Amino acid sequence: MNNNYLLSHRKEEPENGILYMVGTPIGNLNDMSQRALNILKNVSLVACEDTRQTKKIMNKFNISNQLISFNKHNSSIKTPKIVKDLKEGKSIAIVSDAGMPGICDPGEEIARSVKSEGIDIICIPGACAAITALVSSGLPSSSFVFEGFLPKKQIDRDKILLEISKNEKTTIIYESPKRLKKLLKELFELCGGEREIVVARELTKKFEEHVGNNINNVMEFFRDKDIIGEITIIVKGIQKRNLNPNKFIIKKDLNDLINAGLSLSAASKYLSKRNGLKKSEIYKMI
Ligand code: SAM
Repeated sequence: MNNNYLLSHRKEEPENGILYMVGTPIGNLNDMSQRALNILKNVSLVACEDTRQTKKIMNKFNISNQLISFNKHNSSIKTPKIVKDLKEGKSIAIVSDAGMPGICDPGEEIARSVKSEGIDIICIPGACAAITALVSSGLPSSSFVFEGFLPKKQIDRDKILLEISKNEKTTIIYESPKRLKKLLKELFELCGGEREIVVARELTKKFEEHVGNNINNVMEFFRDKDIIGEITIIVKGIQKRNLNPNKFIIKKDLNDLINAGLSLSAASKYLSKRNGLKKSEIYKMI
């Protein structure tokens, strides 16, 4: 443990003039952290996506504090006031309906505005559907791409779907239950039925479900079902491309032919014909 770590824990929270981005549960209220509760209780005010949602958390944990609504419809009006309050020394918490604010939820833009004014932001980490689904998928998780919701416009959507089909990294997608079957069909067409995926439904909730392990199986599983609940999809990347093995075989063949007495030119000519390559391409390989 280094000294910086210890120092950071000596601070009393919340501090004046700080914007706190507070993670809240994605279904299971027991995932609320002590630190997040302390912030919600003691900041000057809590700006929430939907005050009714945040009230549920406040009531469950017997917290009362001033709540104001802050969402995509009013953020341009509310942001200057929040920045002013922070500059005057208030501490403010941003909370979305579920999970981490700023991840496909209000928070991203206010974080930019606040930072550009030189005000500090502290994130109080909490559940995030993307990471929860990734970690439980069993698919490679140390390097991944988070796409969030795919665009609705087909031309933009197709572009991203094509990228996903060629990506070597695991991809995380948010999708509404209404559109899951369409997305599975699109993935099937571009990636093939054998591509590994996991559909995580209702994470952390009573009817949590993980459906895998490839596109064929998942399509079959949902074929005759009405899909409800919240959905996160994890798609495995394609196998890392190996260096073209032909290159090594051709090099070995070339050596063998030269060792057997052929000139470089004759051996290259022979191999270029056999492999359907130009002689110059054979030369490049060596
Ligand atoms: N900020 C949130 C986070 O940190 O995960 C994401 C908010 S985004 C508006 C909502 C989407 O997240 C849902 O449509 C779904 O794709 C995914 N999601 C949220 N809760 C989930 C859950 N319990 N299980 C599976 N996916 C979930």
